[in-house]
Amino acid sequence: MGSIRKVKTPIQAIVKKCMECCCSVKEEVRQCDMYDCALWGFRLGDEVPIEKPKEKKTKHKK
Ligand code: SF4
Repeated sequence: MGSIRKVKTPIQAIVKKCMECCCSVKEEVRQCDMYDCALWGFRLGDEVPIEKPKEKKTKHKK
């Protein structure tokens, strides 16, 4: 909990959470393909969310 003081913005909190999710391996965060995760578009620290690949937006394919 002590590290929460180093997080100053919501984006920083997201990046920190993603680093925790990927065992602090930055390349794993970059390559994350969990498109349904609410943090996915912000995982690289951008204020504007990264667009998901079009064919991966939904789980259901017809
Ligand atoms: S976007 Fe990926 S790395 Fe970040 S929390 Fe979600 S699953 Fe984990």
